[in-house]
Amino acid sequence: MHKNLNVHDSLLSMVGCTPLIRLKNISQHFQGEFLAKYEAQNPGLSSKDRIAHYIIEKAEQNGDLKPGDTIIETTSGNTGFSIAMVAAIKGYKCILAVSSKSSKDKISLLKTMGADVRVCPSNVAPEDPRSYYEVAKRIHSETPGSIYINQYFNDLNIDAHYLTTGPEIWAQTEGEITHLVACSGTGGTISGTARYLKEKNPNIRILGIDAFGSVLQKFHETGKLDKSEIYPYKIEGLGKNLIPTATDFSSIDKFTKVSDEDSAYMARDIARAEGMFVGYTSGAVMQGVKQLDEEGEFDSQSKVVVIFPDHGSRYMSKVFSDEWMKAQGFTNYPGLKEEKTNGK
Ligand code: PMP
Repeated sequence: MHKNLNVHDSLLSMVGCTPLIRLKNISQHFQGEFLAKYEAQNPGLSSKDRIAHYIIEKAEQNGDLKPGDTIIETTSGNTGFSIAMVAAIKGYKCILAVSSKSSKDKISLLKTMGADVRVCPSNVAPEDPRSYYEVAKRIHSETPGSIYINQYFNDLNIDAHYLTTGPEIWAQTEGEITHLVACSGTGGTISGTARYLKEKNPNIRILGIDAFGSVLQKFHETGKLDKSEIYPYKIEGLGKNLIPTATDFSSIDKFTKVSDEDSAYMARDIARAEGMFVGYTSGAVMQGVKQLDEEGEFDSQSKVVVIFPDHGSRYMSKVFSDEWMKAQGFTNYPGLKEEKTNGK
């Protein structure tokens, strides 16, 4: 490989080492300095490249994956894309059980990458045989020579970020980071990054972003799974209706919940203010930053790293579609307000 000439053996050597980008405009009314960890720079356009790359290479090293074998996963889309990308590069088969909540764009992308996609209903309990967890488990048990990535319950998900995202942020901020703000879905990103950063400096505040309709915040506060917290919401990849073991709750200081509507406006604001075309959860995490700022979490000395998990291109038929926004009733935004007609 000739790194200095930017020649790579494959896309795999481009996974990770994503830049920190200073947020100059969107955070101008908040206390402190804000830097986005721009995960859209990964070759598969999201932070999930890190776990796909790491977990698959671990399985190869352990002898669990041999040429021609099959990789199986449940995924809201990004992890599926990253696994399909690594599988294509390395020549494995890839079967993905996805939630019907995933955007059509994401499902088409997975198929384009050669994955065998099984769409499962999102509105059934995780233990229901139709759920994407149960479907993936069944396919794994029926397919000889297969591995099941199981990102919500796989400690290697945490390790991937402990070994990459954490050290990168520590080095990029020269150890000056005071706060990390990140979405929690599987919890792998926030937990692994937090674990590394807390080892370096236990005073760094780790702030998790959860969705209204998800159980994570309440579980963090009470240690109990409260099913009354669960109701449908639109943001993909944020929050959960169960407790993932890939979330190390002890490494997180506080959770803040954000709404679908506020996060959608914020995703659009990021594009307009920073020229950064990032996904719905980047809007969610920035909305969380706004709420945390209002709660007095930051001061003028704060150096805050905010993880932007993926690229906006995957949401053209959702948060970046005016029709979709209007259909949700999210019209309190320039260009989306209902035009008043005088009936003439
Ligand atoms: N944002 C998006 C778009 C995602 O797909 C995910 C992963 N499901 C996350 C944020 C959260 O990352 P993690 O699973 O590591 O908590």
